[in-house]
Amino acid sequence: MARRALEQVDMEKIVALCKRRGIIFPSSEIYGGLGSTWDYGPLGVELKRAIKDLWWRDSVLKRDDMVGLDCAILMHPKVWEASGHLESFVDPLAECKACHARWRPSDLADPTRCPDCGGPLTEPRMFNLMFKTFMGPVEDTAHVVYLRPETAQGIFVNFLNVLNATRKRLPFGIAQIGKAFRNEITPGNFIFRTREFEQMEIEYFVKPGEDEAWHRRWVEERFNWYLRYGIRRENLRLREHGKEELAHYAKATVDIEYRFPWGWAELEGIANRTDFDLQRHSQFSGERLTYFDEETNQHIVPYVIEPSGGVDRATLAFLIDAYDEEPDKEQVRVVLRLHPALAPIKVAVLPLSRNERLVPLARQVYLSLKALGRWTVAYDDAQSIGRRYRRFDEIGTPYCITIDFQSLEDQQVTIRDRDSMNQVRVPIAEVEKHLEERLRLP
Ligand code: ATP
Repeated sequence: MARRALEQVDMEKIVALCKRRGIIFPSSEIYGGLGSTWDYGPLGVELKRAIKDLWWRDSVLKRDDMVGLDCAILMHPKVWEASGHLESFVDPLAECKACHARWRPSDLADPTRCPDCGGPLTEPRMFNLMFKTFMGPVEDTAHVVYLRPETAQGIFVNFLNVLNATRKRLPFGIAQIGKAFRNEITPGNFIFRTREFEQMEIEYFVKPGEDEAWHRRWVEERFNWYLRYGIRRENLRLREHGKEELAHYAKATVDIEYRFPWGWAELEGIANRTDFDLQRHSQFSGERLTYFDEETNQHIVPYVIEPSGGVDRATLAFLIDAYDEEPDKEQVRVVLRLHPALAPIKVAVLPLSRNERLVPLARQVYLSLKALGRWTVAYDDAQSIGRRYRRFDEIGTPYCITIDFQSLEDQQVTIRDRDSMNQVRVPIAEVEKHLEERLRLP
């Protein structure tokens, strides 16, 4: 099927669709919004949850070398000293002496003048990107804590706890999904870069020397994961970081980049963090974060491979990649060609009209599918059947079930496929089986 090129996808249309259909809303909108923060609506929450569930299923449930974790957002301030974030998680900024706006030097045409008010700028200074807050009732520097800028550190500081509790042998990984916060200087592009976001991270512990091979395996595994759930191959690429670009903890990093409408940008990074974090936390905490290798009878500090992806960025990439407009008679048919596993609503049940004879059977089919608790199922009897199909196409619903007058006679319904628009008649008793075959996870 011929698809639109990504350059033609208009971000404004995606943002408008998200708002209109309850996928993503601007946060605190009745108060004028809060810069680049977003809320997930009834459909968005399903999409985001599907992404996280698939990631968890593929990264934890289906593997025997992975376990999960869910750590607190607030951590001991020493964590960020040990991790290097207090020292290195900084960006150079020039501040306007008049209006106090802060600017990245690379964004300035004239490095001495404020683009907003024309006021004089300071020399660039380093600003930390971590959100600071106070723990306890007294605003005292002794109680400063930070909102975590990555979920990873919670995994490192729990390394021994997990090891002792699970008796895992190397190589093994710990997975976590959770919120992270960064006081980004230039947030933007909808949910691409925000100050509050969610990460899906794996810290995969391996024997030193086996790290490079595992790094390659994880890059491949994660790249294929995006393909499996429908991102088109031509819109994904790998990019290796140059030496000067590497984070302070990394020996090598490969980014999975997506071709967003504004250009290629990072979707997920897979870093070889070496033994940096475990060594540093051993040093700062005084606890020996090591692993006893029975083969060599030695305590070793494992190396770590870290696939780290953003839930919100993945959501945006899946939305953009799925967005399609197709000429249809005089109109344009907007279709979200989401992989069925991601579709926020899997099945819609639609009586042909609000006729009093049709509605009871349609409600019965709807409620019995819903009661299974397996899929998100919607019921809609407003407007013409054609318009309802369009409404479900634009939110990516893979299957619409229509109940018509014939259904009253033969106990069969029509199931319409979103992509081909083909319709088949299926006995009501076989609807569940029909859907099950088509909605089975890959
Ligand atoms: P970028 O260079 O785009 O700021 P990064 O290299 O700092 O990203 P990482 O520290 O590698 O990002 O974080 C891992 C993942 O977390 C990223 O690949 C991205 O998907 C997500 N992420 C990071 N920062 C943000 C943000 N501000 N908003 C949304 N997602 C983010």
